[in-house]
Amino acid sequence: MEKNVTKEEILEFTRAKGADVCGIADLTAAADFVRATYGGSFAEYPRAVSFALFFPKEVVNEQLKGPTRNYETIYLMLNREIERISTAVAIKLQRAGFRAYPLDATDYRPTAHPEKLHYAVAAADEAGEKLPKLGFEIIDVFSHRLAAAHAGLGWIGKSCCLVNPEVGPRLRLGTVLTDAPFEPDAPIENRCGSCRSCIDACPAHALHGRAFDEKDPLSARIDVQKCYDFFDKVEAVYGIGICGLCLGSCPFGK
Ligand code: SF4
Ligand code: SF4
Repeated sequence: MEKNVTKEEILEFTRAKGADVCGIADLTAAADFVRATYGGSFAEYPRAVSFALFFPKEVVNEQLKGPTRNYETIYLMLNREIERISTAVAIKLQRAGFRAYPLDATDYRPTAHPEKLHYAVAAADEAGEKLPKLGFEIIDVFSHRLAAAHAGLGWIGKSCCLVNPEVGPRLRLGTVLTDAPFEPDAPIENRCGSCRSCIDACPAHALHGRAFDEKDPLSARIDVQKCYDFFDKVEAVYGIGICGLCLGSCPFGK
């Protein structure tokens, strides 16, 4: 099959499907980090089509006054839009002869590696046994933020969010990993400077205020368990576990 889609065509297609911004990430320099953090199969992809849908900023900023159900409604709607766009982009790349893997908008990987899990489940079933349900770690199956930062959509701020110059962290990200050898876009510099707005706004004191460095583990920047536990505490009194104060407090794009 002739491999026949250009970078310009795939980015135009991604925008036409609804992305507000998009770019091409070179993931080759991050391959060791990806392999160690997310597994070898993801490290096989040298490029990613990264895109963002902007969150209506007033809905995010409203969180600073108190949680709203509208925040969750739009958050979930944007996730479904991202998966629709990612799937369309992946199929277009596949039709053009490339490997392409669309990532879930939000997904978490199991603590145990699920390799050959289909056969293990079938064998246990035939033996009249039942395997225990796998637990899930609170780490994304792959970092959309890493791909977006490499694609120049923004920088990874002290909030651990991708900060875009136009809307700050008020966005949702999508990623399609691929082996299509597109010319990558250039990352942009981190502009957090001495700002501490997200750290001071975090009610769970989960953010450590450390700039992103691929050599550091995620735990150097954020106590994810504290953040997730806080969602549960908000849910216990509000019915929905949401926060987003680190997004609403960022001065970029406010
Ligand atoms: S979502 Fe809330 S609890 Fe979690 S890091 Fe952001 S401000 Fe802190
Ligand atoms: S609030 Fe300030 S420190 Fe936090 S991500 Fe935004 S610019 Fe960076």
